[in-house]
Amino acid sequence: TDTDTADEAVRATCDDATTCKRFATSKGYWKDPYIQYFVRSVGDRKAPEINRGYYARVQGVNHLLDAFLRKTQCDCQVINLGAGLDTTFWRLKDENLMPRKFFEVDFPTVVARKIHNIKTKPPLSKPIIETHSTDSLLLDAHSLESDRYCIIGADLRDISSLDEKLKKFQLNPELPTLLLSECVLVYMTPSHSSNLVHWAAETFHTAMFINYEQVNMSDRFGQVMIENLQRRQCTLAGVEACQTLDSQKDRFLKTGWEHVDALDMMTVYTMLPQDDVARIERLEFLDEKELLQQLLQHYNICWATKDKLNLGLSQLAF
Ligand code: SAM
Repeated sequence: TDTDTADEAVRATCDDATTCKRFATSKGYWKDPYIQYFVRSVGDRKAPEINRGYYARVQGVNHLLDAFLRKTQCDCQVINLGAGLDTTFWRLKDENLMPRKFFEVDFPTVVARKIHNIKTKPPLSKPIIETHSTDSLLLDAHSLESDRYCIIGADLRDISSLDEKLKKFQLNPELPTLLLSECVLVYMTPSHSSNLVHWAAETFHTAMFINYEQVNMSDRFGQVMIENLQRRQCTLAGVEACQTLDSQKDRFLKTGWEHVDALDMMTVYTMLPQDDVARIERLEFLDEKELLQQLLQHYNICWATKDKLNLGLSQLAF
């Protein structure tokens, strides 16, 4: 059916994200010793502005995520929504920043691929076994459950089934919770993404939601981005929520979040540690500075908090 084709095109986007991250790390933009186990070859060369864009995305998201983990002293849980082949769990383990439990959700077929890689690659499976207390690690084709790391196959548009599965995997609504969606909500209709964001606000009393995705999509450059995806059968069903930074914030303000902020990625880029930015800018020569600026102006990080425990979550920023 059309829905199956559309969903398949959305699932394929996780390969784009991973191959671009793999390429950028091979050039030294940042370190990720685990991504090679999810995509074997470095693949075709990517343009320097693409690599810098991914650098800003990864550093920007990590900055807020790590700030939340430090603020809660890791006495918290993380839920990565539409995680794809993301390697954050392994980074946090290596950096001694592991939350009490790290959950990932994606479509069952994506999850099955991820689990297959974990099963067959000891550098991926070892940290999971090491942080697990018993011999009975639950692992089947569509889910993985260990003490500190869970991967769940689910459709994020089906909230009741998502909620049920997370609870079955010992999600604790009382614990401070970080929800992360990186280039995920944009593939869902505005009503589906609002429902998801609303569910999160209703479920947790102390939480932060970090969303990274496209913004400012109504200009010419935005139209070209949309057309490029459509050429590959991929529709940005949520593009209406990506018109402005205000429309990004509204999704959270209208669904029960207390404090919301959003920055376009050009602004984030200028707020990242500038010594490291100077380092990565020496990695590859970039002729057209305007191209990078335009690209970064079409992505944003929006983050929202609610804070019944008064941890000071609304102070988390760049
Ligand atoms: N967050 C990862 C990253 O940044 O590397 C992957 C990003 S990829 C562009 C989008 C991911 O969202 C895909 O893995 C896709 O399968 C997942 N996704 C999109 N819509 C979904 C839905 N309705 N239910 C579950 N996963 C979904």
